[in-house]
Amino acid sequence: MSEEIPADEQAAQEAVELGNRLARDYPEDDLARIAEGLLSGVVHYWLYARQPCDDPRCPDCAPYRNAEWRLAELQRLVADMARSSEYYHSPDDIASGSA
Ligand SMILES: [Zn+2]
Repeated sequence: MSEEIPADEQAAQEAVELGNRLARDYPEDDLARIAEGLLSGVVHYWLYARQPCDDPRCPDCAPYRNAEWRLAELQRLVADMARSSEYYHSPDDIASGSA
């Protein structure tokens, strides 16, 4: 892979490209179904990659020391990424506070 693009940026770019390719290969499926498949794979991969090491006092692994803490960290990351996405807001969103 390219050494000029950081691995995390390359992974994000290729995930989008995979989604686009799958949308072309499976035109009968809606994009949300493909997106949920991508998300499932990403969540599994992230949980695999964030398993704590065998040192119970390791500061790097402290936020990942049990399943609920890993889930909380994953949710925080997903929320941050969603809020920074250009697709977070939609023109068809209802206005907040207009219940
Ligand atoms: Zn560790």
